[in-house]
Amino acid sequence: EEIETNEDIIRGTNDDATISRASAVSLGYFQDPFVHLFVKKPVRRSPIINRGTFIRSYAIDTLVSQFLSMAGPKKQIVTLGAGFDTRYFNIKTGLLDKGQDKLACQLLKYFEIDFPEITMKKVMAVKKRKELFSLLDENAKVERGGMDLKSLDYCVLGGDLRNWSDTVTRLVDAGLDLNAPTLFLSECVFIYLLPEDTNTILKWITDTMTNTAFVLYEQIHPEDAFGKMMIRNLKSRNIDLKGIYAFPDLIHQENRFKDLGWQSATAVDINTIHDKCLDRQEITRMARLEILDELEEWRLLSAHYCVAWAVRSNDYAQEFSRIR
Ligand code: SAM
Repeated sequence: EEIETNEDIIRGTNDDATISRASAVSLGYFQDPFVHLFVKKPVRRSPIINRGTFIRSYAIDTLVSQFLSMAGPKKQIVTLGAGFDTRYFNIKTGLLDKGQDKLACQLLKYFEIDFPEITMKKVMAVKKRKELFSLLDENAKVERGGMDLKSLDYCVLGGDLRNWSDTVTRLVDAGLDLNAPTLFLSECVFIYLLPEDTNTILKWITDTMTNTAFVLYEQIHPEDAFGKMMIRNLKSRNIDLKGIYAFPDLIHQENRFKDLGWQSATAVDINTIHDKCLDRQEITRMARLEILDELEEWRLLSAHYCVAWAVRSNDYAQEFSRIR
């Protein structure tokens, strides 16, 4: 009988994330013509999960678009624990800027890192699907027995974030430019790592890269009743949120960057994004998609997730400071 290790369980959270995204997309919350290519068995999620997925995606896409549309040279994106993230394909096909294709021209290279077990599946899916593979240049090649995919502007790399020195070697071998404007993205990933491991990553970025932004999506507030319930539910599925206790509140998410000397860092919860950032039309449109009876639960859940962004740039400080 197969034994499911703790790592298998953490890798399984990628399927959860992809299914949630596919659910929100199929109900019309937002567009992503590629996500269904990564889902074997679609599941309809509850209205609060669909809403949460939409608002998270909206917030992160907004930050990514702002980053790519900055003046200056072409830009890199590095996604840590990318899973089946489809953002590269959405940027390439102009979905992020409503078909103008301006952002696609701004992209120097998009790197993705995840466990080899995940990247193997992703690389296989990309290779198999014409809709995906045809977006890469003709010299795109699969390496390391299917763990890595390398093309001119898209690289999928198998690696363990807890072994950062190996992962970095792989990134640099794949062409990471240490001075190009670079956005690091981490969606629901740092929470599974020990604070020592995420600090190592952030410290390396701070010491080595000259022009960087970081966008983070994390769960917060493990201490209140709702937070405790969420953690209990995950524990019952053997999912351990190792990273939540060291960064329990918005201020800690900001300070993990500020303490390293980043120019600015801002963290807001999903309620704030819903109330202050989403435009009214989008809220009306979203409200018509599904009836939301659990309004109180929605508010509680949204208080337990945050988006943080931080910048640190030697050459383009002004441009970077406009990301918000
Ligand atoms: N970022 C994707 C998203 O938002 O759809 C996937 C999120 S999923 C909840 C967490 C991902 O982090 C999984 O794909 C998992 O394999 C990856 N991950 C967790 N720990 C990792 C590690 N030590 N090294 C590499 N990847 C890791």
